Amino acid sequence: MSDNAPIVIVGAGEAGIAAAKAVREKGWTGRVVLIGNENLLPYERPPLSKATLVEGAGFAPKLILTAERIAQLGIELLDATEVVSIRRAEKVVILSDGARIPYHRLLLTTGARARSLGVPTAEGARVVTLRTYGDAVGIRKIVGQGCRVAVIGGGFIGLEVAASAVIRGAYATVIEAGPRLLTRAVPAAVAELIKSKHERMGVRVETGAIVERIDFNAGRSNVILASGQSHAADLVVVGIGAIPNIELAQAAGLAIDNGILVDETLATSDPNVFAAGDCCSFPHGLYGRRIRVEAWRNAQRQGAAAAASILGEARPYLDVPWFWTDQYDETLQIVGLCDPGQVELVRDLGSRARLFYYLADDGRLVAACGFGSLGAVAKEIRIAEMMISRRLSPDVRALADPTTNLKSLLS
Ligand code: NAP
Repeated sequence: MSDNAPIVIVGAGEAGIAAAKAVREKGWTGRVVLIGNENLLPYERPPLSKATLVEGAGFAPKLILTAERIAQLGIELLDATEVVSIRRAEKVVILSDGARIPYHRLLLTTGARARSLGVPTAEGARVVTLRTYGDAVGIRKIVGQGCRVAVIGGGFIGLEVAASAVIRGAYATVIEAGPRLLTRAVPAAVAELIKSKHERMGVRVETGAIVERIDFNAGRSNVILASGQSHAADLVVVGIGAIPNIELAQAAGLAIDNGILVDETLATSDPNVFAAGDCCSFPHGLYGRRIRVEAWRNAQRQGAAAAASILGEARPYLDVPWFWTDQYDETLQIVGLCDPGQVELVRDLGSRARLFYYLADDGRLVAACGFGSLGAVAKEIRIAEMMISRRLSPDVRALADPTTNLKSLLS
């Protein structure tokens, strides 16, 4: 295929848009085709479990870029369009209507989808997942004053939906299979603070609770647990994790390993094809292992990094993973990755705000979690991120001492 072919990006979410914007900003004057399967302009997902559920009528998706900006950038957006296959030998993607789109370079930002529960579910039971704007609007219509919501999964989605539901005057129960909340995301001490916050706000939290089936009687869904307990609800929201959308890549013969396998420059096993965001697994130089990060900032930064690689400016992607979640008036921010058993230090920021630091065996700071008001947590987390990316081994006493100016530990 000739070099006049466009850069084609499959997936019009955060990573895809970031990449399309970045190739333009970096001076690519050829065509950029961005293909998305939703019938909406690309929108932000973080508000879906928060503002979209809480705010009143008249809400609209928060767009990543307006239609005018997309046009200004010369991005050809094909929405409501499904790519059904990639023919790597010919360098074309095939759409569901049979159309062929040639590519100069291809970027896969196909994201992830909500995992479904897979238990027997009676006809009529209202069981939903939350991934798209349409899902959020559907939940918003039901969740109001006095409504009962059973949330299955005590991860990011589950907890944010529970918080939004109680803010709207609903009753919420979180049903988590693991022994505690946020098992994979945060250490036990942080999970305990979050659980207390939810309980203070009126959420019922059940851990170690295995869902056996969902019945439907007298107009209500009834979540039946293996313990024999049951939870009747007007709506059941399932937030039990996400599955990377790898099928296109896999069918095209690209290497897969817990996501579309890419190298540290985000190139797949085919040098003309790149991947970024929730769908890809990449080797992270700071952690010495392959990871897949499902997070908003990672999608943005990997999209931009993939754009650089596509244009021949490849550099190892070394961004420190960063996650945030808002729970009522407090925020949880996590930077880096911590493994079980790592040394934990606590810095008490007052007013119930806490910073938890995690150090590897050699004393290197590898992760930090902060829970409390945004003002208390955000700056400290930014400094922790700098320490992690500079591979620093800070003095542990100084780190835990709330009177230490953390910036002084950066040198
Ligand atoms: P998640 O954060 O992985 O949490 C899923 C939770 O459900 C885990 O605690 C998991 O426990 C539990 N679980 C798994 N199977 C279960 C079952 N059968 N019954 C009850 N609990 C079960 O995933 P998520 O909350 O669904 O979020 C989905 C995606 O949206 C993720 O990519 C997430 O990062 C993203 N998201 C991010 C944010 C944010 O960053 N603020 C907010 C919303 C969504 P185990 O860990 O033990 O399996």
